[in-house]
Amino acid sequence: MAYTAEIIGVGTELLLGNTVNTDAQDVSLLLSELGVNVYFHTVVGDNPTRLKQAVEIAKSRSDIIITTGGLGPTFDDLTKQALAESFGKKLVFNEAVAQQIKDFFSKRLPAVKMTENNLQQAQLPEGCVIFDNGVGTAPGCAFEAEGKHVLMLPGPPRECRAMLKACVEPYLRKLSDAEIHSHNIHIFGLGESAVEQKLRNLMENLHNPTLAPYAKDGDVTLRMTAKAASKDEAEKLMTPVMSQVCETLGDIIYGIDTISLENTTVGLLLERGITLAAAESCTGGLFSKRLTDVPGSSRAFAGGIVAYSKNAKISLLDVPPELIAEKNAVSREVALAMADGARIKLGADIGIGITGIAGPGSDSSGLEPGTVFVALTTKDSSYCRSPLLFHDRERIRIVGSSHAFDMTRRLLTGLSVD
Ligand code: ATP
Ligand code: MG
Repeated sequence: MAYTAEIIGVGTELLLGNTVNTDAQDVSLLLSELGVNVYFHTVVGDNPTRLKQAVEIAKSRSDIIITTGGLGPTFDDLTKQALAESFGKKLVFNEAVAQQIKDFFSKRLPAVKMTENNLQQAQLPEGCVIFDNGVGTAPGCAFEAEGKHVLMLPGPPRECRAMLKACVEPYLRKLSDAEIHSHNIHIFGLGESAVEQKLRNLMENLHNPTLAPYAKDGDVTLRMTAKAASKDEAEKLMTPVMSQVCETLGDIIYGIDTISLENTTVGLLLERGITLAAAESCTGGLFSKRLTDVPGSSRAFAGGIVAYSKNAKISLLDVPPELIAEKNAVSREVALAMADGARIKLGADIGIGITGIAGPGSDSSGLEPGTVFVALTTKDSSYCRSPLLFHDRERIRIVGSSHAFDMTRRLLTGLSVD
């Protein structure tokens, strides 16, 4: 049986919108990895009555209740108190935890005098499991009562994240005798709904493993998750489904369990000993930035030129002025000339040229924002894509640069490029 969980974020700052509830995101990501169904996210202010009301509701509908925030030493940190009362438990002063807090101050913050209220953090529900806080003072804790598992985590995201990895993951893994394993299938070149459409029949009939798509900045990831007694058994369940997915989607899959499209592309360049140079206009260097984010890219990247103005395109990339006058700076012809310019000037095997209108306004020629030309040239071939990109300026730039990576990947693996 899969557990159901509810996350209760405690903090008035979350309700007011001053702080984004990133702890809920981190907790949810871990729970879905562990195969725990997260059915509700709740947020309450630093108010014990309303927190207890939220806990009563959570008790009635979830097996696991995880709170974030309110474990600290100040008067508004009342999570442990409220949760202990909700489950009829006492708070007990824990000497060992008190000593750890004193040590934290004397060793890590010698210049700060510990105030007495810090020891309030050593008051913990009777019989609880203590989650050490490796990066702060407030420990987390967990207890089981009324058939529910209750876990309390600190609010500061850095502390919450560290505790999730070090304490919560092992705690939750012990609750279940099954193991959860998953694979991420990375796709570029088809939207989320189109991917889902292609796989709808398969997805509807799947129970173990399950397959769920999510999209970000033009990439689509399909997450396949299997639950079994061992890793081998989980892999056995996933293998035939993986084959079916790969067969259905074909070469728009750029990787399985890879880090990113740029990582895959740089990996291919390095494997084949091929170099690349880029000329960027509307992406303002984003393609080069993403490429150089990948460790080891120096052996594959000859350099990038950000040629934003017409003059820069002419003087830095040798784009003929008459070509710009005749075809427009945002055109297929100019993108190809930019790619050639970068490739020849920097002596690389592959040239990339990106020019477009990132928006929000149109340019003087009346082209719509989102019009982007992405060119790739080698000494004996040239290609250009013109995806019509909707959405905002940032997304147009990200997806525009992703097309350049995808074209390079496809060229290097012998697939059609445009
Ligand atoms: P502290 O010991 O720092 O008081 P705490 O466990 O009591 O920790 P809070 O006082 O609720 O936690 O919050 C501490 C900090 O963490 C605040 O800056 C707050 O904005 C941030 N924070 C709290 N909850 C969340 C959350 N759910 N997501 C992101 N940040 C959060
Ligand atoms: Mg606090």
